[in-house]
Amino acid sequence: MNVCVIGTGYVGLVTGTCLAYLGHAVVCVDNNPQKIALLEAGKSPIYEPGLEALLDHGIRQGTLTFTLDLAEAVRGAEVIFIAVGTPPLPSGEPDLQYVEAVAQGIGAAVTDEKVRVVVNKSTVPIGSGNWVEMLVEEGVSAHQSVPTGTGALKAPQAPHFLVASNPEFLREGSAIGDTLYPDRIVIGAQAPEAVSTLRELYAPLLDQSFDAPAIASRPEGLRSVPLVTTDLASAEMIKYAANAFLATKISFINEVANLCEKVGADVTQVAKGIGLDTRIGSRFLNAGAGWGGSCFGKDVSALISIGREYQYEMELLKATVSVNAHQRQRLIQKLQEALKILKGKTIGILGLAFKPNTDDLRDAPALDVARHLLKMGARVKAYDPIAMPHCREQHPDLDIHYSESVEELAVGCDALVLMTEWDEFKAMDLTIVRGLVRTPVLLDARNVLSPAVCQNYGFQYMGVGR
Ligand code: NAD
Repeated sequence: MNVCVIGTGYVGLVTGTCLAYLGHAVVCVDNNPQKIALLEAGKSPIYEPGLEALLDHGIRQGTLTFTLDLAEAVRGAEVIFIAVGTPPLPSGEPDLQYVEAVAQGIGAAVTDEKVRVVVNKSTVPIGSGNWVEMLVEEGVSAHQSVPTGTGALKAPQAPHFLVASNPEFLREGSAIGDTLYPDRIVIGAQAPEAVSTLRELYAPLLDQSFDAPAIASRPEGLRSVPLVTTDLASAEMIKYAANAFLATKISFINEVANLCEKVGADVTQVAKGIGLDTRIGSRFLNAGAGWGGSCFGKDVSALISIGREYQYEMELLKATVSVNAHQRQRLIQKLQEALKILKGKTIGILGLAFKPNTDDLRDAPALDVARHLLKMGARVKAYDPIAMPHCREQHPDLDIHYSESVEELAVGCDALVLMTEWDEFKAMDLTIVRGLVRTPVLLDARNVLSPAVCQNYGFQYMGVGR
């Protein structure tokens, strides 16, 4: 099928690249000329394991192209994905200006009568499907009524758009595998034709009939993927509810961790003990620095603010947010407990990205911690295997001293704080590191190191809830 994906960020680029891998003819659109130039040269503007290999495959097969010209790309497509950002406004509501611009642009681009499906992959408030439909129609009507010489209005045949919601559940860092082998595909639409078009588009994923690429092997035993079809509003709610639940699960275990510290229990053992209960499940039960990234905070805040529109206070989600904010504060308190005075101390931060295997720094707990420490008069050093160039570029205000290795970071530190669980940090040579730091204080904000091993190397180890 001919597909157009608008927005070449983490979601749009991965979606477009994977659809091209499945054999569809995909045009990816962005309004950022630097991104399009990089992509045309086969380079990914984001770090995502395996993505460049699949990009290269699509470009060489001729199934994947890139353009700045939205109108042209839309005209040639049967299915049009909107995958632009919906970042949070200070009020907590998502900023829909990019979705709005794109929806209007889609309507304005088309004058023929072909049926096209507009699919919203951006995470948008409940009801946005109908709003997108209205905007597309507004774009269409801008070129619909053309005055004739007699003063009468000529009404050409209307282009035909069907709107669907197809929420995205990929995780940065494992986005290719998540897209090719999803737990489920959700499609919300009023028109049955929209569902059948998307069922056809996703057929190779639904029945897992494609050959797995070398960079992402198929999970053993996966033969098919469930398709959940719903109305528009329910599909939009599924996305918010999924993220709100996961964020709540993390805040829950962090709250338990904080109590574990007081009563002398170990939250890693508690998490194992409860996670083996299949009703609970073991994932998203890692106590630590709390959640971050571009989605959880934004989506939980959006759900709270949608509730308020309907005079409903989402009390549980408000607690989820406040426990998460407290968790970052708690790390500063732990450093204060160990070092007493932070002013003038050198703190080394291991990891800046909000999680490993990505360069995404949006709402990264490490940046909050760095900002706090700097405000308190500490000197902050940092090392991240991938995210440092982004950090330098996006946060020039942060007076961070960047290091090129764990060893360079350790030199002269009064405390090390492990903020992102990169494999490199799990495997760091503690003998060498111990020899380089000024004071052997190690705050493991992700609970990935062994307290006993760290103590054997002479570190004062602090984890979260253990
Ligand atoms: P992003 O910020 O990485 O990418 C958005 C892209 O859209 C950018 O490249 C930007 O240049 C482009 N863009 C903006 N306006 C445009 C326009 N008028 N025309 C063409 N391109 C335009 O965003 P993302 O992380 O990919 O997220 C996209 C959406 O998907 C958001 O709603 C997000 O909540 C949702 N989502 C994200 C993730 C994730 O892990 N990042 C997961 C699931 C859902």
